Amino acid sequence: MAKTTTEGAGIAPEVLAKYEAVIGLEVHAQLLTATKAFCACSPRFGDPPNTNTCPVCLGLPGALPVLNGKALELALRASIALNCEVQERSRFARKNYFYPDLPKGYQISMYELPLATGGWLEVDVAGAAKRIGITRVHMEEDAAKNLHEGFDDSDRYSYIDFNRCGAPLIEIVSEPDLRTPAEAHAYLTALKQILLYTEVSDCNMEEGSLRCDANVSVRLRGAVKFGTKAEVKNLNSFRFLQRALEHEIERQIGVIESGGKISQETRLYNSATGRTEPMRSKEFAHDYRYFPDPDLLPVHVDAKLQEQVRTGMPELPAARRARFIGAYGLTGYDAGVLTAARALAEYFEAAVRAGAPAKAAANWISTELLGRLNDTGKEIGDSNVSPTGLAELLAKIESGEITASTGKKVFARMFESGKAPAEIIAAEGYSQISDTGAIESVARAIVAKNSENLAKYKAGNEGVFKFFVGQVMREMRGQANPQAVNEILKRILGEA
Ligand code: ADP
Ligand code: MG
Ligand code: ZN
Repeated sequence: MAKTTTEGAGIAPEVLAKYEAVIGLEVHAQLLTATKAFCACSPRFGDPPNTNTCPVCLGLPGALPVLNGKALELALRASIALNCEVQERSRFARKNYFYPDLPKGYQISMYELPLATGGWLEVDVAGAAKRIGITRVHMEEDAAKNLHEGFDDSDRYSYIDFNRCGAPLIEIVSEPDLRTPAEAHAYLTALKQILLYTEVSDCNMEEGSLRCDANVSVRLRGAVKFGTKAEVKNLNSFRFLQRALEHEIERQIGVIESGGKISQETRLYNSATGRTEPMRSKEFAHDYRYFPDPDLLPVHVDAKLQEQVRTGMPELPAARRARFIGAYGLTGYDAGVLTAARALAEYFEAAVRAGAPAKAAANWISTELLGRLNDTGKEIGDSNVSPTGLAELLAKIESGEITASTGKKVFARMFESGKAPAEIIAAEGYSQISDTGAIESVARAIVAKNSENLAKYKAGNEGVFKFFVGQVMREMRGQANPQAVNEILKRILGEA
């Protein structure tokens, strides 16, 4: 029998294969507003600690919260983009617990009446679309941040930075529809893409604007009932989400295989060890004693407000992908690459508007441009090659002024210097040689020098034709028009 351990390491693949995981994600996104959820302080990341506070977000007695209209609008935009039904009436509740980073002793959140429910999100799982249910979207405020400094006991301090306290968040809860760590990864990718396209959040995971908790259970394949779940917190990157899930699934299978039971608990992912560790069990679980917040009015979203948000909604990634396939004849794969980020999709369309053929633009952007951005760690917005510059370059290739391989060299120079293609081509003497006389004299010299290969060609070895083309191209520094080289060589070899 295969050896199993409760830590999950070394479980035989055939044992793992007996089980299926069930995963649901709870994602928090910070809304891109100028002020906090219930006061006029800035929620900006990175300001000096405790400089963006007021009686409301510090929880001073008697201070009264007022809902930020922009936060509501962004929360509605996310809800609609995620195909949720917006509730006409929702309500803020107090989620009571004591923690140093929560000065009021409660967090303002939504509980029994969330903002929106019953949505879905389509994710790409190994090339196939799968719909993942969204249970609900609700609004809440963030807590402050505990900071710990120092290394030894004589020099160790803890501080609280209240700048984050009261920052506006939405929580997006998925149905337990995900089955593998890869699906969870794809879900978070699609969700982040939508939140970025709609400018609901900047989704910066390092700064904590996008946070993810994962609920995981396992069951034997074919079983109908869900297993007991554990919640894994602290997944602040896509890589950690995937690794933590892989580890947690194996751990749970290990526990069950060795005759144990999964306890319902909250676990913390430790990125240093790659393991999940218990944080608190359900026995010590919080009883938050939720009740409606008497300081805030219920939220009433009428048809007019919903319509207003719908009208202002930008084109979503899925719609844009479909349009790129339909209008420009791109493959699904290319459309996916080009719509991965809104700025990239807009770059592509700007190049097409500037006259670039769509398919060529798609190829050059997804290989040359993305490759160079990746190598240099730059964003599309920092690219020295403008959409117009790319269109100009493609026109020069199209017209035969330069070859495609010279075009790549020109592109590299454009990326480095920001110069226009015409300027680079002139300075480098890159213009393609279409002068048939020049090509012919080089071709004749090469044929004369390679009598052995000529004999092979005469004997029917078509393969050596490529050799001759290569030699001519090399001699002409890659600047000869390839079609002309082909035609001229065929003629000369035929006559020889
Ligand atoms: P809780 O009351 O413990 O917070 P919820 O029912 O609110 O649980 O669900 C929280 C999250 O856990 C949701 O994303 C949901 O999809 C997911 N979930 C619920 N049951 C399971 C399960 N058995 N296995 C995995 N995930 C689950
Ligand atoms: Mg919950
Ligand atoms: Zn404030």
